[in-house]
Amino acid sequence: MERYRIGLVPGPVSVPPEIRAAWDYDYASSDLEDEFFSLYNDTQELTRKILRTQNDIVITSGEAMSILWASLKCTLKPGEKLLAVSSGLFGEGFADMARTFGVNAEVCAFDYDDVPDPEKVREHARKFQPKVITAVHCETPSGTLTPCLAELGEIAHEVGALFVVDFVSSAGGCELDVDACSIDIGLLGCQKVLSLTPCLSVSTISPRAWEVIEGVNYAGYESYNSWREVPAKHYMPYTHDWQAVNALNISLNMILREGVSEAVTRHKNAAELCRALGRDMGLKLYPKHEEFCSPTVTAFYVPEKFTWPELDSLLREKGLAVGGNYGVLAGKVFRVGHMGSQADNDLVREGMSIIREVIA
Ligand SMILES: *Cc1c(COP(=O)(O)O)cnc(C)c1O
Repeated sequence: MERYRIGLVPGPVSVPPEIRAAWDYDYASSDLEDEFFSLYNDTQELTRKILRTQNDIVITSGEAMSILWASLKCTLKPGEKLLAVSSGLFGEGFADMARTFGVNAEVCAFDYDDVPDPEKVREHARKFQPKVITAVHCETPSGTLTPCLAELGEIAHEVGALFVVDFVSSAGGCELDVDACSIDIGLLGCQKVLSLTPCLSVSTISPRAWEVIEGVNYAGYESYNSWREVPAKHYMPYTHDWQAVNALNISLNMILREGVSEAVTRHKNAAELCRALGRDMGLKLYPKHEEFCSPTVTAFYVPEKFTWPELDSLLREKGLAVGGNYGVLAGKVFRVGHMGSQADNDLVREGMSIIREVIA
């Protein structure tokens, strides 16, 4: 397998040795052992602390797409209404996914280099009266961070909708208060800030979200249904990944040992450094304004004298891997991922100096 000396891809990020050590253990069956359920409970508690929530925490197997699907399938039936607040590929993706099973989805759309305007969302939500409103905290492909989650949460509750937020690539790396933002279902991935492999997903679920989930009663592998009972009943819908849950526990403890606000500052510093070095070498930020930029990932335009495949292969020759892009941003915008284990000023400096050499 090809390995790169400097990994600055915006997920999956490099897995630090302390976390990798979780896979060195040989466990018994997670279905049978009380010890596994203690680990599960403890991991729920640690997640609550980091995300600032009293809500239930559900930890499931599978990469984050599995819970993006779960959040839609468990709360919406065919014909019901979803309003997807979108300033990027993942925002719009919620509407596309919901339409595949007959949901009446509308998109409250903003440019990909912009962030949502809550007044426009309020107007759209009042007119459309959706059952669910989705939003994305960090639009990883655009390198933007939605600053108005608390207002969007208020709007959702004003119109009686559930508020579902994808914070897959932001939580742990920037300020996030799930309860203050009235988030009913929050979605967190493991291969971004948490620096695990893409093995698990973490969802926060409010009491009003559980009511809706029980009403819809969706049956399927990714369904949340039986997870509400898991901690009490010690009974899971499938065999859980003990090594992965242990890795998650280690990762959350590492953040708490560092301090949540210290981890946030580390991400902010790495992002500022990345933008400053980019500016010095003449790179143009993709987000319309610098204050829209996410602390976990920076998106730059591909400089005009290169195609993306040319730039990518020149960087790889020098040992640097960064992120390309998808959809309308493919070939136009590339990304430097400084989240989790990669939110490190020395690593960012090293990576950016290779970009400078290559584009000079
Ligand atoms: C990474 C990510 C996901 C999960 O998608 P994958 O590309 O399959 O990992 C979902 N939402 C956001 C915002 C992400 O950054």
